Amino acid sequence: MVHDWGSRDASFVAINKKVLTRLCEIANGKDDYVTVPMQGSGTFAVESMLTSFVPVKGKVLVLINGAYGQRAKRILDIAGRATVVHETAEDAPPDLQEVEAILQRDHAITHIFTIHCETTSGILNPIEKIGALAALYKKSYLIDSMSAFGALPLDARGIRADAVAASSNKCIEGVPGLGFVICRRDALAQTKGNATTLVLDLYDQWANFEKTGQYRFTPPTHVIVAFHQALEEFTAEGGVPGRGGRYRNNCRILLEGMTALGFKPLLPADLQAPIIVTFHMLDHPGFVFQHFYDGLKRRGFVIYPGKLTVADSFRIGCIGRLGETQMRDALAAVREVLDEMGVTNPSTKAA
Ligand SMILES: *Cc1c(COP(=O)(O)O)cnc(C)c1O
Repeated sequence: MVHDWGSRDASFVAINKKVLTRLCEIANGKDDYVTVPMQGSGTFAVESMLTSFVPVKGKVLVLINGAYGQRAKRILDIAGRATVVHETAEDAPPDLQEVEAILQRDHAITHIFTIHCETTSGILNPIEKIGALAALYKKSYLIDSMSAFGALPLDARGIRADAVAASSNKCIEGVPGLGFVICRRDALAQTKGNATTLVLDLYDQWANFEKTGQYRFTPPTHVIVAFHQALEEFTAEGGVPGRGGRYRNNCRILLEGMTALGFKPLLPADLQAPIIVTFHMLDHPGFVFQHFYDGLKRRGFVIYPGKLTVADSFRIGCIGRLGETQMRDALAAVREVLDEMGVTNPSTKAA
């Protein structure tokens, strides 16, 4: 990252090409899929996917169970694309019978959008089953796999997704600054003219890569070179099984340790993705979240406030350059901070 790369120089173009090819392999895309990168954070990739794949006259069935589903709906509203929403609580996956009923009822629907791991709660959504419905009713299938890509298996061809969006800085452990969309070539080829912005036009971005191997506009060169290195390390760790295995172990240690300290997770084990865990706040007069947060931060651990409407909660991540040692150290810090706050024998607000 300390080297200045020329964005139109052959050395950088070659590194970028390796990154795009590798991303496609991770999704089992083979020759049927192509990765189109989009400068910016993950939301830039999601907005680019939605506003390039969904034509102005399209209609999207948006499956919502958290803030990122809400954000996709907002993107589509702003872009003037019609939507129909199926929303479930933040701790509940979509109701597939209801999804099917909507598809039978509303023939104007052209696309189905879902989130792979809804990071708001950490819930794993059933992308294979939703994909089967999309295939059965011949709808284009679009997925936000931002917080799961690289850690949870995703077979884009197997589930017949038209597009999957993710970014450099979550489970691949690169630095922030690049989003990407893994697209079925045949579907992408039909999106010409759909986009309603120049910058986020995925088709135009792709067409330019096909022609020149280069970005249309200045890419974050340092970020992409770091992303290349992150992908090498991802491969060395054993790809999706290796990375996902480490996160699953982190998640198990975290759940066991926090439960022993009196915390209760929001989700049952079968809905919990090994990405981020939501815990209920403790119901104890000494437990003040800001003090808890600050005490952990002083010990070198930054956690994440809750984003839920269904429960008073906070979140702890399992992803990033973390292993067993860091998770155990974090649990020791949690115990120390609870002691400091005088919190003993707590119960949770949900209990
Ligand atoms: C992180 C994330 C995004 C993108 O967020 P940015 O802040 O734009 O990178 C989108 N969807 C999900 C599910 C996420 O976890």
